Amino acid sequence: MSAIDQLPPLREVIAAHDLRAKKSLGQNFLLDLNLTARIARAAGDLRNCDVLEVGPGPGGLTRGLLAEGARHVLAVEKDARCLPALEQIASAYPGRLEVVNADALALDVKARLTPPIRVVSNLPYNVGTELLVRWLTPPAWPPFWQSLTLMFQKEVAQRIVARPGGKAYGRLAILAQWRADASIVMTLPPEAFTPPPKVSSAVVHLERRESPIAPADPDVLSRVVAAAFNQRRKMLRASLRGVAPDIEDRIHRAGLDPTMRAEQVSIEGFCALARAVAQSV
Ligand code: SAM
Repeated sequence: MSAIDQLPPLREVIAAHDLRAKKSLGQNFLLDLNLTARIARAAGDLRNCDVLEVGPGPGGLTRGLLAEGARHVLAVEKDARCLPALEQIASAYPGRLEVVNADALALDVKARLTPPIRVVSNLPYNVGTELLVRWLTPPAWPPFWQSLTLMFQKEVAQRIVARPGGKAYGRLAILAQWRADASIVMTLPPEAFTPPPKVSSAVVHLERRESPIAPADPDVLSRVVAAAFNQRRKMLRASLRGVAPDIEDRIHRAGLDPTMRAEQVSIEGFCALARAVAQSV
C-alpha cells in the first residue's frame, strides 16, 4: 500500500490522541487511506473546488480530499477530541484546511465556502438523512453545492437511488432524484470501518440538476410525499385525505388515478400532485 501523504498512519493517530469511538456520535472510522482516496476521487475533480466535509473524525477522508487536490476543505466536527489530529493535517497542507468544532446541523456553512462547492462526507448515521434532506430542499434552486458524495448505510443508499415500483421507493428517492442525478458508486463491508458497524455501507454520488425534473414547491412536495408514503399500502385518495380539501379532484387534475398507490407514482407525478395541492380553488 502506498502512502498518500507524509502524515502518520491513522491507527497511530487514533492511539496518540486516544480517539476511542463513541457510538453516540456515530463514530465508525475509515483507516485505509487508499479507500478514503477512492471516495475522494468518486466526488469528481476537486482541484478547483471547495469541499465541505461533515464529521472528519481522525481525518482519513480529509487526507484523501487534500491529497486529491481539493482547493479548500471546510471540516465540521462535533467531537473536540478530534481537533489535535485535524490540526496536524492542517499544518501538513498549509492554508487548505479549515477545521470548525461545531454541530453541522447548527452551522451556516455557506458563508465559509466559495463556489464551486462539493460536499464529501462519511456521515454520522444519526444525522445523515436529516442533512441530506436539508441539502435537497432549500426553497431556491440551484443550491450552494455542485455535488454530494456521501456514505450511508447501504439500505439508506438504496432508498436514495430507488425507482418507482419497489419497496425502497419513497420520500428519499423522490427528493433526491427530483433535483439531482443519484447513483451508488461504491459499497463497503462492515470490516472496512473501525469499529465495524452492524451493516454494510454505500457511497452515493448526487450531481445537482441545474433545474428540477418538474416544477414544485419543495415544502408542498415533501408534505405530499410524506403523507402518501406514510400509508403506502393505501390508495392516494385515502392516504392524501388530510393534505388538502377536494383531494380526489386534485389527484385527477394532476393526471393521476385516485386509486393508485404511492409507489406507482413517478417523480413527475408527485410534482404534478404538489402543484395541484398548492393551487387555490
Ligand atoms: N470521516 C471520518 C472517517 O471516515 O473515518 C469519521 C466518520 S464517522 C462515521 C462520523 C463523524 O461525524 C464522527 O467523527 C463524529 O464525531 C462526527 N459527528 C457526529 N455528529 C456530528 C454533528 N452533528 N456535526 C458534526 N460532526 C458530527
